[in-house]
Amino acid sequence: MRWPRPRACFATAVLFPARPAATMAQLRASSSSATAFDYLVLGGGSGGLASARRAAELGARAAVVERGRLGGTCVNVGCVPKKVMWNTAVHYEFIHDHADYGFEIADVKFKWSVIKDKRDAYVKRLNEIYQNNLNKDHIETITGHAAFTRDHEPTIVVGGKKYTAPHILIATGGQPLIPSESEIPGANLGITSDGFFELEELPRRSVVVGAGYIAVEIAGILATLGSKTSLLIRYDKVLRNFDSMISSNCTQELEHGGVEVWKHAQVRSVAKSTLGRLTITVTSSPPNQKPTVSTIEDVDCLLWAIGRKPNTEGLNLGQLDIRVDDVGHIIVDEFQNTSRKGIYAVGDVCGKALLTPVAIAAGRKLAHRLFEGKKDSKLDYTNIPTVVFSHPPIGTVGLTEAEAIASYGAENVKTYTTSFIPMYHAVTKRKTKCLMKLVCVTKQEKVVGLHMQGLGCDEMLQGFAVAVKMGATKADFDQTVAIHPTSSEELVTLR
Ligand SMILES: Cc1cc2nc3c(=O)[nH]c(=O)nc-3n(C[C@H](O)[C@H](O)[C@H](O)COP(=O)(O)OP(=O)(O)OC[C@H]3O[C@@H](n4cnc5c(N)ncnc54)[C@H](O)[C@@H]3O)c2cc1C
Repeated sequence: MRWPRPRACFATAVLFPARPAATMAQLRASSSSATAFDYLVLGGGSGGLASARRAAELGARAAVVERGRLGGTCVNVGCVPKKVMWNTAVHYEFIHDHADYGFEIADVKFKWSVIKDKRDAYVKRLNEIYQNNLNKDHIETITGHAAFTRDHEPTIVVGGKKYTAPHILIATGGQPLIPSESEIPGANLGITSDGFFELEELPRRSVVVGAGYIAVEIAGILATLGSKTSLLIRYDKVLRNFDSMISSNCTQELEHGGVEVWKHAQVRSVAKSTLGRLTITVTSSPPNQKPTVSTIEDVDCLLWAIGRKPNTEGLNLGQLDIRVDDVGHIIVDEFQNTSRKGIYAVGDVCGKALLTPVAIAAGRKLAHRLFEGKKDSKLDYTNIPTVVFSHPPIGTVGLTEAEAIASYGAENVKTYTTSFIPMYHAVTKRKTKCLMKLVCVTKQEKVVGLHMQGLGCDEMLQGFAVAVKMGATKADFDQTVAIHPTSSEELVTLR
């Protein structure tokens, strides 16, 4: 469906950087076979949709090509359904505390299908909202797989039809990795985070492989809801690129929450029994010890969370000499320019800070640069706050202590830490810790890192991230009056 040019387009001659006459001529030449837009966006996920909509607001005639469901990873198989499942798990955790708070709740039963149906319906509503938003903004939706053609001017083909634009954004995201069958025989018997959202019931016995945040979150959800869960990690801690305090504490909290953490462990093979259950053979190789081989039997869900790969295969990037790294991530400069003029990339496909708000912000900044003439518009990738929806959740922004020492020297780094049991647990048998760390540098004690794990830390982080982004010092934190009684007050009373 082709929409009439939006009203705002009348202003585009002023807003857009003038398009060179030669390009217009070439465009007209190619337009005999290709439909031309001002902005062509490949991928209707977080980054693509945000960029296309902002460009349309600024008067560009935009189109989005999407081969799957609108909303991309975040909406369909990422942040959104994950958070619904985390909320479900947190709900169950709190049920354990009801008796301590004086509630008598007998015979609690959990029905996975109830929350799955509601979650799926919510995601479907979001898909529709995204489509409506595109329609409202007069952005054309092209359904199908996009690939570049051999045409002289950058052109894409979708379902046999060609499209072109002077500005093309690649925002095709990524997908979960699964080991090859030659690496690990039987690996295909496992699922990934995508498959987690298709499970029709809570697995009785789960094995999650991986130590990143997706592995931690899914293992936590499964175990909290009652699946006997093992987490297989290659070293001795999860989240190894986080501050060491978080990495150690999160590993302990997983164990505390009932996850059996297999350290220094690697899957060797997977086999399926006649009953359909999996037997997983695992090699454990602790440092300075002889490797041992053991099996985990009777598994009904093996989930690989070992990383993601960019969706660049099948785009024919080679036709246009668009540079990628060895994994296939598109190499971009700080303005999201690829090595080919007029072609840009944002989000997971670039392999940097794989988070929805990062893709959105980079996509919007790019739209302002291309269609509003804001030539310096680019995303600042420093101090990006991140939350891990573990049990309890983690919030972190800025440099880890190790990174601060590497950048500023140990003599210029001072940390403030605390560990306490949040007041919520004052009356409960079940306890979880709250840990906090401020990483400060130089004499001014500028806060360059803030790391915490504990109840409420997910919601606590955003405001503190503003302070860190603004360059707050420890003294600024100290001069802020505490809010009592909360866990967050500890961050402004650290000594
Ligand atoms: C389990 C999980 C949990 C997560 N939780 C969080 C979280 O809590 N917070 C957070 O910030 N981030 C989270 N993320 C990360 C977040 O989902 C991604 O960073 C974000 O979706 C990236 O946006 P994007 O626009 O780069 O790509 P995507 O959202 O993946 O969108 C890319 C789109 O391009 C489409 N596409 C690909 N190739 C083509 C093609 N050739 N032609 C047409 N269409 C194509 C795909 O179908 C997809 O819809 C999570 C991810 C996962 C997997």
